[in-house]
Amino acid sequence: MKIDTIPHRKTILVAGGAGFLGSHLCDALMGEGHHVICLDSFLTGRPQNTLPLKNHPRFEMIEQDICLPIEIDRPIDQIYNLACPASPPHYQADPIHTMMTSVAGTGNLLRLAERHGARLLQASTSEVYGDPQEHPQRENYWGHVNCTGPRACYDEGKRAAEALCFDELRSGAVDVRVARIFNTYGPRMRADDGRIVSNLIVQALRNAPMTIYGTGTQTRSFCYVSDLVAGLMALMNVEPNPEMPVNLGNPGEFTIAELAEMVIAMVPTTSSIVYEPLPIDDPQRRRPDITRARTILGWEPKVPLAEGLPATIAWFAANLAESEALPPPPATRRARRTIEGVAG
Ligand code: UDP
Repeated sequence: MKIDTIPHRKTILVAGGAGFLGSHLCDALMGEGHHVICLDSFLTGRPQNTLPLKNHPRFEMIEQDICLPIEIDRPIDQIYNLACPASPPHYQADPIHTMMTSVAGTGNLLRLAERHGARLLQASTSEVYGDPQEHPQRENYWGHVNCTGPRACYDEGKRAAEALCFDELRSGAVDVRVARIFNTYGPRMRADDGRIVSNLIVQALRNAPMTIYGTGTQTRSFCYVSDLVAGLMALMNVEPNPEMPVNLGNPGEFTIAELAEMVIAMVPTTSSIVYEPLPIDDPQRRRPDITRARTILGWEPKVPLAEGLPATIAWFAANLAESEALPPPPATRRARRTIEGVAG
């Protein structure tokens, strides 16, 4: 078969393509026969996430921080912007760089999209709703965010990125779509990611104390990664442009204590739960209203937590030794130099 004659074949850039979500998206796009350019700084992304694609003729890797101007000399049809640390400990490790990644980085990708006439999908977040006072969260809720707190670098950065995206859309410069991604989990999360699903699984597998912050009564809604990737691709390709942000997540809502009990029931472990202080501005409840995604995209998640959790546990059990051998995310100073590069 002459693969280049496939009519729907596109060249698609995935910024953050070596990360947890990005690498699954690269796999899915490659599976559809597209050319994929993966751009990643490896701040939290990992080369081994895309190792199976490494020598494929339709796959290319570029190591770059999106805070620096991006030049690609080939035509590009679509850009997914998934480039940003997403776990609270990682995005708070260098908050200024996190903010710049969302604002300057998204700006650079929007310029790239404009030059290439490419469509851009921005990975936004349920964090734009902050600690929400409406439940479940619909897209027309403006949110309840502390703009000076330790989560602001991520929440406000992503909110500013949404503002940039919708201004670009209104100006006619770029065909932009915005997905608000709720808590997502699955294989290839880092063992040191710091978020609840990976923390509890890794702690249980290591027979270490399982940390619950606060009382464990706070809730989250957990979406399996394959469902999320299908939602991103549906939003990128839907016609016409929805011209509105779209929530993507699984509405199944669990307390953190319930999640811990599920993990304990699924992992043979001697671990027990320890309670630690609740982080500042930790949202108390979170559940997506996905009416818009159902209506516009015909999308809804298929994998319940009772299925996705064992699959994720099995992956961690098989990969934990390798994860432990990994270096931690690069030090803050490297990211700061990048910012100075932008400023200079
Ligand atoms: N959490 C916890 N123990 C952990 C990690 C997180 O109890 O080891 C809590 C955290 O305080 C929050 C919830 O789990 O209430 C989800 O946290 P996560 O970092 O996974 O995501 P986010 O807060 O960004 O939704």
